Amino acid sequence: MASIILDKVGKIYAGGTRAVGDVSIDIRDGEFIVLVGPSGCGKSTLLRMVAGLESISEGTVRIGDRVVNDIEPADRDIAMVFQNYALYPHMSVRQNLAYGLKNRGTPRADIDRRVADAAAILQIGPYLDRKPRALSGGQRQRVAMGRAIVREPAAFLFDEPLSNLDAKLRVTMRLEIKDLQRRLRTTSIYVTHDQLEAMTLADRLVVLNGGRIEQIGTPLDVYRRP
Ligand code: ADP
Ligand code: ADP
Repeated sequence: MASIILDKVGKIYAGGTRAVGDVSIDIRDGEFIVLVGPSGCGKSTLLRMVAGLESISEGTVRIGDRVVNDIEPADRDIAMVFQNYALYPHMSVRQNLAYGLKNRGTPRADIDRRVADAAAILQIGPYLDRKPRALSGGQRQRVAMGRAIVREPAAFLFDEPLSNLDAKLRVTMRLEIKDLQRRLRTTSIYVTHDQLEAMTLADRLVVLNGGRIEQIGTPLDVYRRP
C-alpha cells in the first residue's frame, strides 16, 4: 500500500489541448478515491498520468516515497483495471493470471500462491482451467481484476471497469468491488460516470470540470442537496 500525492498536476496534449490543470490531491494509504465529472473533463487523462500511460506535462505524481514522473509504467507498482477485459484468448484463466508474473521472473511457488489467493478472493477457483471464451461477462471481469490483484500492487487504478456490463451485472460487480475494497484496503483511484458507483465506493470523491478540481469531499459532502 502507498499514498499517492498529486502536486499541481497538468496535462497539455501535443496540439495544445489542455486536458488537466493544477490538480493537487493527497490520497492516503488505503484510501479509495473516485474521479467523477462530465465527459471530457480529464478523468481518464489524470488516471493515465498516474499509470504512466500519458506523460505528465506539469507538476509531480508521487506514489509512496517516489516521484514517478520519469518511472516506466511497469515500475510504478500499480495495477490498472480496464473496461475491456484484455484477457489473452488462447490462455486459460490460470495462465492469464500468471503470465505477467512469469514475465517478471516471479518464482513459481510465489506465482502459485498469488494465483490461488486471487482465485479465492474473486471466487474463480472453479474456472482456472477454462479459456476466457467459456466464461460469462462477470467471470471475465473478475479474471481481469485477478490480473491486477496478483501483482499485489501498492495501488489500483480503475478506468470505468464496469461500463461494458449490463445493468444487473454492474450492480453485482459494484458490490464485489466494494467487498474487495473492504478486504484488501489497497489505495485506489476509480474513474466512473456512474453516480451510484461513486457513492458506494468512494471514501472521497473528486469532481473534475474542465480539467480542474471543482469539488473534493465525501459522497455526502458532494451529493448533499443544498
Ligand atoms: P474524460 O475521461 O473525463 O472523458 P479525457 O481525459 O478523456 O476526459 O479528455 C480530456 C480532454 O482531453 C478532452 O478535451 C479530450 O478531447 C482531450 N484528449 C483526450 N485524449 C487526447 C489525446 N490523445 N490527444 C489530444 N486530446 C486529447
Ligand atoms: P501482463 O500484461 O500479463 O501483465 P507484463 O507483466 O509483461 O504482462 O506486462 C506488460 C506491460 O503491461 C507492463 O508494462 C505491465 O506493467 C503492464 N501491465 C500489465 N497488466 C497490467 C495491469 N493490470 N496494470 C498495470 N499495468 C499492467
